[in-house]
Amino acid sequence: ALLTQPHLCTTTFPTIIGLICDQDKVRGEAITAIPGVAEVVPIMPAYKLASREAHPQDSIIDVSGVKIGGGHLAMIAGPCAVENQERMEEIAKSVRASGANIFRGGAYKPRTSPYSYQGMGADGLKVLREVGDKFGMPVVTEVTDPRNVEICAEYADMLQIGARNMQNFVLLTEIGKTTKPVLMKRGMAATVTDLLMSAEYILSQGNPNVVLCERGVKGFDTSTRNCFDVAAVPNVKGLSHLPIIVDPSHATGRPDLIPPCALAGVAAGADGVHIEVHNCPEEAKSDGPQALLPDQYAEIAEQIRKLAELFGRTIG
Ligand code: PEP
Ligand code: MN
Repeated sequence: ALLTQPHLCTTTFPTIIGLICDQDKVRGEAITAIPGVAEVVPIMPAYKLASREAHPQDSIIDVSGVKIGGGHLAMIAGPCAVENQERMEEIAKSVRASGANIFRGGAYKPRTSPYSYQGMGADGLKVLREVGDKFGMPVVTEVTDPRNVEICAEYADMLQIGARNMQNFVLLTEIGKTTKPVLMKRGMAATVTDLLMSAEYILSQGNPNVVLCERGVKGFDTSTRNCFDVAAVPNVKGLSHLPIIVDPSHATGRPDLIPPCALAGVAAGADGVHIEVHNCPEEAKSDGPQALLPDQYAEIAEQIRKLAELFGRTIG
């Protein structure tokens, strides 16, 4: 498994032994267990396929004609949950007019409480597909269960992995077997390395179409829903070729904080912005309090467009 002879450096303390080998065949843990070995320091990250070393240029992911990455911005908008067709059409029409290029809506909702609204299921997928087609936008929806990967892939253009499922490795493996673009949300207590390792699960199954999403991590401050980690954007960009977008809706949970955090994300290099929009938040089936109204979305979408232009990037 060694690809070259070990290179010994005895002029340093401790002694350093350089090995070029196949990481799959030589286990670092086993070497660490040898008496006298203080530490094994890999020079390549464990997320081999997701790493920048593996693929120096930015990946561009194509979601049914909408490009994400390499200077192309995704503008993902829509309600948290798929609702009735009429309401979905109203929301889709407004966000499309504002420049959104991908329509979102959850048909299977991962809720903290089993008594909260759980989503429309397969009927919701059909509504989402019809409305997306009617207004000319590809659609993204969350898959929460490996048993639903097939039906979600049948109706949606992009499969979302929710923060709560970022380390559901059975689900990741199942989604990795499809070729559908994936929107992978960062887990609420996941490190950047954890996020990239989860992306590696998808890539290693043969699906290269992964878009990452920073959506806030758990913090101590209860004045916001989560703590928006804007530094994760350039951090991931340095480590990986995969596109990364921001979701200021779930990151902050507050309509007043969504626009500034969306702009901060784009300024930090994000490849898109995911925002929840509802035309009647008080009647929303989920996440109503954090939804932007269509007019508010129109305003921030315009600002994002101007900022993107400043950086020589385009929407879609
Ligand atoms: C959502 O997009 O509605 C959602 C549940 O997001 P997250 O998994 O980031 O909480
Ligand atoms: Mn939501």
